[in-house]
Amino acid sequence: MIPVLGNETSADQLYIQMQDMLGDVVPDFELKIKAELAAEINRLKVEKNAVILGHNYMEPALFHSIPDYVGDSLDLARRAATTDKDIIVFCGVRFMAETAKILNPSRTVLLPSAKAGCSLAAAITAADVRELKQKFPGVPVVTYVNTYADVKAESDVCCTSSNAAAVVESLDSDTVIFLPDEYLAKNVARETGRHIIFPTKDPRNGSGTELDYQMIGWPGRCEVHEKFTLDDIANIRKQFPDVVILAHPECSPEVVAACDYSGSTNAMIKYVEQTKAPRYLLLTECSMGENIAAANPEKEMLRLCSVRCPHMNQITLEDTLASLQKNQYVIEIPEDILYRAARAVEKMVALG
Ligand code: SF4
Repeated sequence: MIPVLGNETSADQLYIQMQDMLGDVVPDFELKIKAELAAEINRLKVEKNAVILGHNYMEPALFHSIPDYVGDSLDLARRAATTDKDIIVFCGVRFMAETAKILNPSRTVLLPSAKAGCSLAAAITAADVRELKQKFPGVPVVTYVNTYADVKAESDVCCTSSNAAAVVESLDSDTVIFLPDEYLAKNVARETGRHIIFPTKDPRNGSGTELDYQMIGWPGRCEVHEKFTLDDIANIRKQFPDVVILAHPECSPEVVAACDYSGSTNAMIKYVEQTKAPRYLLLTECSMGENIAAANPEKEMLRLCSVRCPHMNQITLEDTLASLQKNQYVIEIPEDILYRAARAVEKMVALG
């Protein structure tokens, strides 16, 4: 488990704890300022009866100082669904905050930055999904949780990277529409032994009456994970032949195949905690790497980190403080969309 520092700690105590944990990755003068901001956020959080959820991709000083819970999108969705606090402050991106609102609509959900979007979520619209459903009538739609509420509302069930293959296999259907991540879809197709087509890339695909394919995908991509290449892997293996390389399944299938392990953010965290390998490398968002390294100081993490998610990077301690002070930015979802999206998200949560 990645440790989270307590709410009750003073700025001075927080500074010492953060120094101990993050002294290698965050400059000292910055830690001092951040500790003061974090202490004020924690004070206000208690005063306003709020809970702070922090995604694994948050920058290390924020990640280790203010969240009550940290984790991947599925963990945080579960926390959001069951909290009895009046306010949920979501330190993550918009689609995650929307998922919190979908699962617990009576709470006020705040996203600290209005600019925290996602290239993958932006790659598909509700109209795109309706068009696919018209083209492939009766075929169930599985939507990755990294989508906006109106897209989820058009779906039968959502999934995360940790349960995508299980969700596809749980459906009583030979054919599945899987949206919107091209690479995750290809990785799931390989894992489940299915043939995948991308009708938007090649319109001839899927125009016949015979369904000789089993998965229908969409060309959306995560702008972070698509950047890792086979050359990155070859170069690092040349320098460190004993390195264990872990990749997120939003990386390309070629990259995943060349790695030693592929799994969701949580699966990678567990793997690092348990590995006996002399050194490891993570092909994923770089703040997550720093957060894992801070929690496992006895293990050597190689840093290939040039890939910071620009959307996650929008969430700062300053913005989180302003969010609590000014009650911004409130997540609103029209009721009919919220209701339909909830069915798909709740099915995902129930599937585990
Ligand atoms: S890491 Fe990729 S999928 Fe996650 S928020 Fe950033 S762009 Fe979206």
